[in-house]
Amino acid sequence: MGLNKILHTNAGDGETSYANNSIVQKYGISKTWPILDETLKNMLETERFEECCFKMVDFGCASGPNTLLVLSHLMDTLQDFSSGFQEIQVFLNDLPDNDFNNLFKLVQSFYQVKETKTKTRCFIYGSPGSFYDRLFPSNSMHFVYSSYSIHWLSGVPEGLESNNKENIYIAKTSPVNVLEAYANQFQRDFFKFLSIRGEEMIPGGRMVLSLSGRRIEDASSMVENAHFTILAETLHEMVVEVEKDDLYSFNVPIYIPCPREVETIIGDEGSFILDKMDVFPVPWDPSQDENFEKCRCAKFAADSVRAVIEPMLASHFSRVVNYDVVFEKYAEKLAEHLSKEKPSHFTIAISLRRK
Ligand code: SAH
Repeated sequence: MGLNKILHTNAGDGETSYANNSIVQKYGISKTWPILDETLKNMLETERFEECCFKMVDFGCASGPNTLLVLSHLMDTLQDFSSGFQEIQVFLNDLPDNDFNNLFKLVQSFYQVKETKTKTRCFIYGSPGSFYDRLFPSNSMHFVYSSYSIHWLSGVPEGLESNNKENIYIAKTSPVNVLEAYANQFQRDFFKFLSIRGEEMIPGGRMVLSLSGRRIEDASSMVENAHFTILAETLHEMVVEVEKDDLYSFNVPIYIPCPREVETIIGDEGSFILDKMDVFPVPWDPSQDENFEKCRCAKFAADSVRAVIEPMLASHFSRVVNYDVVFEKYAEKLAEHLSKEKPSHFTIAISLRRK
């Protein structure tokens, strides 16, 4: 099955949906407001664009409220800086199986709220397709945004099936060639993403990207990959429910890079200047930073991972699996881990300028 079919988050607005389980991403997004505002301000101060319609795209928008939160913030910022743009054209991109309908329903109320508050008129469109393909005309975009999407690879790196049986991502027991296969796939994919955006963007246009990242060089660190390592353990304990061969051949098409890797690829590709890079922690459960309670945090983290990973598991496993049971067990194991340490995810946020 093509990856385009399996890569999407849980649809709708029910209990296990991405729309209802994306608070971790929401927290991370709000931490990028300073870099987003600074980037827009700098662009408006230094560039002279002919058009009066600001054209932008959000790559990997998914189907929850985070997309419109970003757009709302961005419109307010453009208004605060009296950008001169009277109209904004926004493309919301994701893979064709994304639940665009859920998103479009939210767009209707967004229009109503926003149009009474800002003078700028906003026109929103869906743009289905992979961001590893060309999606827009040459020199057409002023601004490109993406949050928590470009660590998704274009596919599972080749050659992992017989090499990474006990794991579903890079883990302490993964052989070196697994680490290399993942790193090389990210290198190729991110390079391609930048080259294509380079063609689509207007010179002087800006791009703000945030993605999951790791602080340290070692890509197999248990500290940073705990949620994948523990999910692999959970699935292995449930081999009665899951077909063994299916489990052995399952690897997530995601790569969590370190800042050095991101910076090197931007330099090698050459279409963009890296104006700023931030790396910051995002707690597993941002709602309880102060009064930490491990079982509640573990349940929250399990639900967040489920909203993103369940469609991949469901399309890979040939047997019907009860995911309520899998993710309950997963939450128990995460809670055990949390009694030993209080981990964070890390986010890399970058501001790029089209040369
Ligand atoms: N931007 C949202 C969603 C992040 S989830 C937020 O911050 O909350 C990641 C999204 O990226 C998913 O919806 C997934 O379908 C999408 N995605 C993954 N690979 C993609 C690709 N190659 N092209 C377009 N979208 C992709």
